Amino acid sequence: MKLILLGPPGAGKGTQAKLLAKKESIPHISTGDILREQMQKDSPLGVKVRQLVKNGELVPDNIVLEVVANRLSAADAHKGFILDGFPRTLKQADGLNEALKTLNTAIDLVIYFNTSADVSIQRLCGRRVCKKCGANFHITNMPPKKEGLCDFCQGELYLRDDDKKDTVQRRLQVYQEQTAALIDYYRKNGKLREVSGDLEADKVNAELQKLFSREKLANPALKNGE
Ligand code: AMP
Repeated sequence: MKLILLGPPGAGKGTQAKLLAKKESIPHISTGDILREQMQKDSPLGVKVRQLVKNGELVPDNIVLEVVANRLSAADAHKGFILDGFPRTLKQADGLNEALKTLNTAIDLVIYFNTSADVSIQRLCGRRVCKKCGANFHITNMPPKKEGLCDFCQGELYLRDDDKKDTVQRRLQVYQEQTAALIDYYRKNGKLREVSGDLEADKVNAELQKLFSREKLANPALKNGE
């Protein structure tokens, strides 16, 4: 299955992508995770994008497109993949189509997480991430057993720079200005399906399982992982 998860920051795309990737045995490709990894390594790419990511601005299309095209050509992505946080502009969506064409394939479905701004803000500002293993917690929705410490590896939990209130507001504005147009773009080509991103994670997951069962019945090629 070749999927795009679309929706504002804080919609729960990452959480669902991890669950789906495990269930379908396909890679979860998050451009945000890839960029943060490069930033942590201080690689030339990481250094180039650091300030933009910190300020909640988008990284230029050509840079992200190159990162994604490379990742999609890896062997583990041939059977399927879940794109999380990409595409974020119409130019990226067109670039993705081109990249997939050269790989002789196309996107099967785009899942739109329809999420209110209040819920996004509450989730992002309360999110805490483990410095060591990257696990996510939330100060009220999913608190760690010991405050400030990761349940899995005891690493220190921190607030991402771009999860600070002002930057979150900017990220939501950027989403409205540059990304929301993709909803219509994928609706028009018949690939868009919608779930409520405001629901709790297990409810969203149940919705997604129902949706995939229906889609697999209608299109058996999806079932075979083609
Ligand atoms: P995310 O973890 O998906 O919220 O992404 C964090 C940040 O990485 C974004 O605010 C952008 O600065 C950058 N980023 C991630 N994906 C993209 C993309 N597809 N296009 C441009 N910038 C991106």
